[in-house]
Amino acid sequence: MSNLRFEAIIESQKRIPLPIEENGRRSELFAANVFNEEKMLQYLTKDALESVKGAIVSGTKIQRKIADQVAEAMKGWAIGKGATHYTHWFQPLTGSTAEKHDAFFDLLPDGKALEKFGGGQLVQQEPDASSFPHGGIRNTFEARGYTAWDPTSPAFIYGTTLCIPTIFVAYTGEALDNKAPLLRALHAVDDAATAVAKYFDKNVSKVNATLGWEQEYFLIDKSLAMSRPDIVLTGRTLIGQTAAKGQQLDDHYFGVIPSRVLSFMRHLEVECTQLGIPVKTRHNEVAPNQFELAPIFEEANLAVDHNLLLMDVMDKVAKKHNMKVLFHEKPFAGINGSGKHNNWSLATDTGVNLLSPGSTPMKNLQFLTFFVNTIKAVDSYEELLRSSIASASNDHRLGANEAPPAIFSIFIGKQLGSVLDELEGVSKGKLSPEEKTELKLNVVGKIPEIMLDNTDRNRTSPFAFTGNKFEMRGVGSKTNCAKPMTVLNTIVAKQLRDFKIEVDSLIDKKNLKKDEAIFNVLREYIKTSKRIRFDGDGYSQEWEKEAKKRKLSNNKSTPDAIQVLTSKESLELFDSMNVMSGVEVKARQEIELDSYIMHLQIEGRVLNEMVYGYVIPAAIEYQNILIANVGGLKGIYGAGYKKMCESQLAIIEGMTEHIAALKSKTDAMVNERKKANVIADSNKKAYAYCDKVRPYFERIRYHCDKLERLVSDKHWPLTKYRELLFVK
Ligand code: ADP
Ligand code: MG
Repeated sequence: MSNLRFEAIIESQKRIPLPIEENGRRSELFAANVFNEEKMLQYLTKDALESVKGAIVSGTKIQRKIADQVAEAMKGWAIGKGATHYTHWFQPLTGSTAEKHDAFFDLLPDGKALEKFGGGQLVQQEPDASSFPHGGIRNTFEARGYTAWDPTSPAFIYGTTLCIPTIFVAYTGEALDNKAPLLRALHAVDDAATAVAKYFDKNVSKVNATLGWEQEYFLIDKSLAMSRPDIVLTGRTLIGQTAAKGQQLDDHYFGVIPSRVLSFMRHLEVECTQLGIPVKTRHNEVAPNQFELAPIFEEANLAVDHNLLLMDVMDKVAKKHNMKVLFHEKPFAGINGSGKHNNWSLATDTGVNLLSPGSTPMKNLQFLTFFVNTIKAVDSYEELLRSSIASASNDHRLGANEAPPAIFSIFIGKQLGSVLDELEGVSKGKLSPEEKTELKLNVVGKIPEIMLDNTDRNRTSPFAFTGNKFEMRGVGSKTNCAKPMTVLNTIVAKQLRDFKIEVDSLIDKKNLKKDEAIFNVLREYIKTSKRIRFDGDGYSQEWEKEAKKRKLSNNKSTPDAIQVLTSKESLELFDSMNVMSGVEVKARQEIELDSYIMHLQIEGRVLNEMVYGYVIPAAIEYQNILIANVGGLKGIYGAGYKKMCESQLAIIEGMTEHIAALKSKTDAMVNERKKANVIADSNKKAYAYCDKVRPYFERIRYHCDKLERLVSDKHWPLTKYRELLFVK
C-alpha cells in the first residue's frame, strides 16, 4: 500500500515558520502597488484626473484622448515598478477571476522594440475567452465577448503584471460576468437612496453601498492536503473518520495563532496592504486549523474586487509557506464549516452612514427610513436573496446542521423591535402636534440611547442588524460576494424607489408634511413586513415550523433555491431596475444548475475512485493479515482455534460486510449518475443529481469511516482528520 500518507506526515513535521520581513509601517506600505488617486495626481494632467474622477463619481464617459493619457501614465508608473505585462482582470461566471497577460513589449514596423500601451488597450480588449460559461448568451446571439475598463476600481500591480479591473460583456450588451450586474445594482441603489436621502439633506448627491466581508478559511499543511485525492479535486474531504478531538474544548477559537500560520498571515497582510486591501483583523476560528481575516469595509464594488484578489493572493502565499488554503464551505465533517459574513450599509457622499442613528430626531427618522425599507425589501424578496448564496458547497451549511438556516429572517433586537412596535401605532394621515412631539421625544428620540445598549447579538440569524449595518451571514466562504451584493442592492433600490413614490404621493395628494408622510408609509411597511422579523433561535426545529406558517421559503438545496431566479417577480425586478435582462437572468440560472451538476459529478467520481482505489484495497490488505493470523492459530491449536480467534473473526466479518455494502452502494451511485448524465434538461438533471446521486455520498461515507476504524493505522493510506486538523 502507498506510504504517501506517512511521507506527508514526516514532511509536515519538518516545517519551520518562514521569516517575514516588514519594511516600514503598514500605513506607508498601503496601496503602494495601486494606481489610486494619489498616483494619478502625480502622473496625470489635471484634465485627465478630473475626467477619471468624473467617471468614478458620476459614471461619465472618458474620451479616447484622455484614455490615451491615462494609459500612458499607468504604463509609466507600472514599468517604473518593474511590471512587464498588463491584463484585463475580470470575473467570468465561474465564480473566480480571469486574466490573460500581454507584454507591454511590442515591435515597430522597422523592427525596433519598445513598450506600448495605449487608451485602446486600456479601455477595451477582446480576450477570446470563449470557454467561459455563458448560459446560452453567446450561442443565441453568436456574440463575441469583450472586457471594458471599470475606472471605479483602481488598477494594481500584482507580481510583474498591471491588472486592470474590467467588466466582461457580449457585443450585444449582455453581461457575461458578475461585475457588470453588480455595478448596475450599485447604480440603482445609488439613484434610489440618494433621492430618499435628499428628504433629510439636500446636499447628498451620491450614496455608496458599503461592504465589509469576513473571510473564513482552513489552512492545512500542503503535503498532507496533497495526499488526499478528495481535497485536491473537490476542496473537501468526502470521507474520513472524525478525530477523537474536535472543537469541543474551544481551545482553538481566538487562541494563540500557531507560529507557522502567523508567519503566513503576516506575509499575506504585507501583500494585501501593498495591493490596497485594507486588512485589519486576524484570528483563529472555532474549528481546529480554521482562521478568519477581515478588512476595513469599503465601497461594495471595490470590496468585492478585493475579496476576489485576496482569495487569489492567499492561495499563492500559502504555497510559499507549504500550506493549502481551503475555501470550501464544509471541508470536514463534524466540525464547523466556513462562511463569509457580508456586512452591508449605505453611506452618503456627505459622510453619513444611513443605517447609523444620529443625534437629532431628523437624523433618526432618516435612520428609521433606511432601516425599515431594508427590512421591507428583504421581506419582499427573501427567497431571491437566499438564491444568491446557493451553491453545491454552501448546501452543506445552509439548512444542514449548521449555521445559518436556509430560511431568511431578520434579527433587530428587542429594543429596536419595540421602537417599530410603537411606530405601528402612528395615526393615519395628519399627525397632531402632540403626537409629533411624542414621536420625536419618546420614540425616535430614544434611538441613540437604545443603540448604546444594543448589545444582544443573535449568532443564529442569517440577516442581523448589528448597530450600524446589516450582517448577511449565509454567504459561503467560497462565494463571490458580487452575487449576494447584486441582489441585496437591487431589492433595496426597488424598495426605496417605491417608498419615494408613496411618500411623494402622500405629500402631493393628501397634503401631508414630509415627516408625516414618511411616518405613514413606514407604519404600513412595519405592519406588512412583520413575518421576516425573528429574534429567536434560528437553528431550532420550532423556527422551521413557525417559518413555514409565516410562508417564508426554506430551500435547502441549490436546485430548489435557484428556481425563483426566473419567477415573474424576479424577472420583473431585475428588468425594472436595469440590473439584468431576462436573457441574462436565465443564463445565470442555467450556469448555476450546470455548476451544481458538475460539482456533484466530480465528487461522485472521486468518491468512486477512493472507494475502489484506497478504501477497499486497504481493508482487504489488513483483512488478509487477520486471516493469516487465524490460519496460523488454527495450525497451532487445531479445533480449539475458534475460541481464540473470536475477535479476529468478528473484525474479518465486519470488514466483509462493509466492503460488500461499499461495493453495492458505490455501484448504485455510479448507476444513478449514468442515468442522470443522459438527461438533457439542466433542471431535471440537477434534481437527479440532488435527489438520486447525492444521497449516496453519505451512505458510502458511513462504511468508509467504519472501515477506517477497523483497519490498522499502518495500513490506512488516507491522511486522517487528526493529522489534517492538528498538524500546525
Ligand atoms: P464585529 O461584528 O466582529 O463586532 P465590527 O462591528 O467592527 O465587528 O465589524 C465587523 C465587520 O463589519 C468588519 O469587517 C467591518 O469592516 C464591517 N463594517 C463595519 N461598519 C460597516 C459599514 N458601515 N458598512 C459595511 N461594513 C461595515
Ligand atoms: Mg461577523
